[in-house]
Amino acid sequence: MTPIDHYAVFGSPIKHSKSPRIHKLFAEQTLQSLIYDAQEVNAEQFSSSVSHFFANGGKGLNCTLPLKELAWRFADKKTERAELSKAVNTLALQPDGSLLGDNTDGVGLLTDLMNNHLVKLKDQNVLILGAGGASRGIILPILEQNVASLVIANRTIDKAINLANEFVHKGAINGCGFDDLAHQQFDLIINATSSSLSNEIPPLPENILSNNGVCYDLAYGNEPTSFVRWGQKNKVIKSLDGLGMLVEQAAEAFFIWRGVRPITKEIIELLNSERG
Ligand code: NAP
Repeated sequence: MTPIDHYAVFGSPIKHSKSPRIHKLFAEQTLQSLIYDAQEVNAEQFSSSVSHFFANGGKGLNCTLPLKELAWRFADKKTERAELSKAVNTLALQPDGSLLGDNTDGVGLLTDLMNNHLVKLKDQNVLILGAGGASRGIILPILEQNVASLVIANRTIDKAINLANEFVHKGAINGCGFDDLAHQQFDLIINATSSSLSNEIPPLPENILSNNGVCYDLAYGNEPTSFVRWGQKNKVIKSLDGLGMLVEQAAEAFFIWRGVRPITKEIIELLNSERG
């Protein structure tokens, strides 16, 4: 009997991951036979755990905090979007036995923003808060939408400046600290810091949002995150969290592995309804 195809997400901490549930729903919807589980793997265990997984018949992996950069180093080949972002969240076993690394975070965010929430990016002034792994993955796809400008602001200022410098050949991008944001206005602010996880928000000046501004927090939870609440308080037209992005980046990974694209709308609605 052919063994059932095995996929997993590696990360630490991992026990609250929604990915196994999402991929189970995708598999049921698309009639694909597979298993997908979550495995607690830290940075020290990464190489041996990945080698063991694929040596034992694994077909594909998602890698999350703190493993995306390690996955980027580990992959034999990378897509252009993964190469530039220096972060890989999806590893796919190829017919020749090699591992292809991809980064589906950016396409996941853009699909949620533009298709699910009809947020326009072209000619908009966009601010990304944070210069970590998630920020890296979303910069190129945002620049490719012909935004008017993209600013990366981070607590550790050098990281924002260095990150922006890596993408200057791709569009109008600048890096700075939070204090440098005074007197600037943005149409879209994306929180790619992990501040919501500790119920904090980065220090933002007043009047930083233009009329009809939109806020998007990559983090998500059962309750509105601190940044989503900040957006609501500042009367944005939409203040969104990252649950839709999570489902969309997973759908892209599922497509890479299985060649079948799940319909995400009903799954986002289901997960939304479960959190009230
Ligand atoms: P990361 O690589 O650890 O980077 C964390 C970033 O947050 C850094 O820029 C850090 O600044 C900043 N930061 C942390 N605490 C802060 C605070 N209290 N105030 C201001 N800045 C703070 O993490 P990551 O992988 O980029 O993930 C960032 C967030 O995105 C997490 O909440 C993660 O869950 C979320 N995410 C969501 C999805 C999705 O599908 N929805 C996908 C990927 C990531 P310093 O550089 O100064 O330390």
